[in-house]
Amino acid sequence: MQDETKCLHSGYTPENGGPRVMPIYQSTTFRYTSTQEIAAVFDDPTRSHIYSRFTNPTVDVVEKKIADLEHAVAAMCTSSGQMASLMSVLNLCSAGDSFISTSAIYGGTVNLFAYTLKKLGIECIFVDVDADEDEIQSKIKPNTKAIFGETLTNPSLQIFDIEKFARVAHSNGLPLIVDNTFATPILCKPVDFGADVVIHSTSKYMDGHALQVGGVIADSGKFDYTNGKFPEFTEPDESYHGTIYTRDYAFAPYIIKARMQLMRDFGAYPSGHSGFLLNIGLETLAIRMKRYCENAMTVAEYLSNHPKVEHVNYPGLKDNKYYTLAQKYLPDGQSGVMAVTLKGGKESGIKFMDSLKMASNEVHVADIRTCVLHPASATHRQLSDEQLIACGISPGLVRLSVGLENVYDILKDIDCALDNI
Ligand code: PLP
Repeated sequence: MQDETKCLHSGYTPENGGPRVMPIYQSTTFRYTSTQEIAAVFDDPTRSHIYSRFTNPTVDVVEKKIADLEHAVAAMCTSSGQMASLMSVLNLCSAGDSFISTSAIYGGTVNLFAYTLKKLGIECIFVDVDADEDEIQSKIKPNTKAIFGETLTNPSLQIFDIEKFARVAHSNGLPLIVDNTFATPILCKPVDFGADVVIHSTSKYMDGHALQVGGVIADSGKFDYTNGKFPEFTEPDESYHGTIYTRDYAFAPYIIKARMQLMRDFGAYPSGHSGFLLNIGLETLAIRMKRYCENAMTVAEYLSNHPKVEHVNYPGLKDNKYYTLAQKYLPDGQSGVMAVTLKGGKESGIKFMDSLKMASNEVHVADIRTCVLHPASATHRQLSDEQLIACGISPGLVRLSVGLENVYDILKDIDCALDNI
């Protein structure tokens, strides 16, 4: 099946006379008629459902659909993108371990990696997204357990060279984790370029309608966890009746371990109703992504020729530093998000934002509706102009997430707002 078809049909086929639309299983638990049957499910959690803290039939459909779209063998939904980032690392690292991440990642993930994981005894070693292989290699230590990066970085819109990082990871026996939130599997399938684990904040394009926060982790099923670096995968798990993940679940040891250890113990799992809403978003993901990219390209080209605009950062533009990498990893489009620097600094940014009539001023990105954020007056308002520049955010920078309205209405709104500056 092609992606448009997978979005609609993967994961759920109604039985004869069954509901056409995937039902919501809004139930904490599932009934068995004998102790023998429930024991069998405890022995092998892939057989059926036990308790909605870690599996649920509605969420299961969504997991199968996302795994299929990502060319992965299995997936597990989480209650937020943050939880997907956290669990993707915790499934590999314990106190005393380290992992490498590019510094160009979502700010919330930087915080999680640099501060919260540090408190748990896990060290994140940051590396520049443009670092060469020798530099990445120089950061690897005997206790390093993974490498992490974002396909299309939020908010700097840099492109993570997946094959470069995969080469370094694999030559050191390490799995590569890729946050594919902004690209979605429609624009890029990181597994095809060597990623071993793919995560998402489904709150963004996958849900698409700004309805709910969520996340997902997908397992390529390709990484060899028996290489001696991952004893938790190859030795009996005393917390789960002696299961050896690489032996008992050889097809997807990473995701089964994440579910049976982390999700079972932390319980950050979406409800059946959340799974249902996410599925509605996924059904139109492929066609929405196409339109986001078309609209964004039109807006980016328009803005780059506007006299009140200093710079447009959109990797689909030919003069963008990441254009060549974007053509390799995201040939069908580079999402709807761009960063626009207005002439006239913070004052221009504020006037522009306050003059928009249709685009909403909000922290969210990747919504179906066009939305904008001016970091200097919102998320980063405590910083001086000098401090903003030091963080790579110019005072006149506006993050623009182009939605699915008619592109001429989007342009009209932007144009009128620019007139007011
Ligand atoms: N990863 C990326 C690339 C994001 O942009 C975000 C949120 O903006 C997250 C992860 C965290 O996701 P959530 O807000 O769903 O917890």
